[in-house]
Amino acid sequence: MYEKVVSRNPGEREFHQAVFEVMQSVGPIAEERSDYAQWSILQRICEPERQIIFRVPWVADDGKVEINRGFRVEFNSALGPFKGGLRFHPSVNLSIIKFLGFEQVFKNALTGMPIGGGKGGADFDPKGRSDGEVMRFCQSFMTELYRHVGEYTDVPAGDIGVGGREIGYLFGQYKRITNRYESGVITGKGLTWGGSQVRTEATGYGTVFFVEQMLQARGEHLEGKRVVVSGAGNVAIYAVEKAQALGAVVVAVSDSGGYVVDEAGIDLELLKEIKEVERGRLTEYVERRSGATHVTDGCIWDVPCDIALPCATQNELDESAAKTLAANGVTLVAEGANMPSTPAAVQLFQAAGVLFAPGKASNAGGVATSALEMQQNASRDSWHFDETEARLQEIMSEIHDTCLATSDHYGAPGNYVVGANLAGYVRVADAMVALGVI
Ligand code: GLU
Repeated sequence: MYEKVVSRNPGEREFHQAVFEVMQSVGPIAEERSDYAQWSILQRICEPERQIIFRVPWVADDGKVEINRGFRVEFNSALGPFKGGLRFHPSVNLSIIKFLGFEQVFKNALTGMPIGGGKGGADFDPKGRSDGEVMRFCQSFMTELYRHVGEYTDVPAGDIGVGGREIGYLFGQYKRITNRYESGVITGKGLTWGGSQVRTEATGYGTVFFVEQMLQARGEHLEGKRVVVSGAGNVAIYAVEKAQALGAVVVAVSDSGGYVVDEAGIDLELLKEIKEVERGRLTEYVERRSGATHVTDGCIWDVPCDIALPCATQNELDESAAKTLAANGVTLVAEGANMPSTPAAVQLFQAAGVLFAPGKASNAGGVATSALEMQQNASRDSWHFDETEARLQEIMSEIHDTCLATSDHYGAPGNYVVGANLAGYVRVADAMVALGVI
């Protein structure tokens, strides 16, 4: 079946990787649920319900017309409207959007909330673009996308390169074209116009809540642990914040220009100022913080730690990085990004007895809080920060327990990859059976 997926989707390396990883886990289900084969569940799950590719023309500040390619892959809506973020990054292509959409299906199922899976984006690079350029790009992107999305159809959100600013421009254009203040059409909105408390923090916080659960299951805590977080975007920043709040010492973060080591612990306010306010580079961190060093050669995973949280991007942690981490005594790795560890790295961690949490479980807090935002929009309500954070924490702990129980049930106790894949798979598959051949 994997060979078939590869030949039907030639050249889509990241998509193949994501499919392979899930297919490797589903063996035990084939035995237990032989009815799935009759329904061709696995084949159907690997085929997106709909894929949209479109031209995005926009005018740059210098007057030149720029062209980008936009995508929305509506992967599976058995459990609810398609739900998943938009990524604006020059590396974006159909393979990347499909791998993200595929992962999203299982991740969203794991949250236990009524959301299907999808993903979108464009090969637009917001880096170095003015606010006006970003706005015009977002408006052009939504001028095509608006006809495919809706509160009950498909609900986008942010991902790499898409934060509050972009969500605002996208929602504004949707509202203008449709003449509807349809809050539930997009999540990650600002707090004064339909957004939810904790959505900004949710992916990073959720990852750390998941780590706490993994540790607690073994009678341990984050307190005093040495942590390395890759990335310096939305996920990384709030993973650092929550890890520090729970008593861990975060000694390194990274961006595409290198990584920073700060043995005294990352200065979060400074990091936020540089990344969130100034949209600057990490080189500026060391200019303003004595004792910190900036490293451009090598890899952030060279920094010894107890806990590693890859929160940057796909395939950022390969086999050799995994070897280094394991040799330096890492005990736990939890993915804040989507598919940051290569299959060989995951295998190595598992063989070395390192606790490993796959992104579709440990980074599900972002989309879960998006679903909470949808709930608030549907009831025209807005919840307080503490109440929303408590819901997030509860959801992460339920996902954790589901993964562990499922891994036990299928004879792979403690294997969070098997647990996450199979728990998510069964939820989606059962809904697909119930809804018939569609
Ligand atoms: N892009 C995020 C993810 O990878 C969030 C998606 C959402 O909130 O819809 O899960």
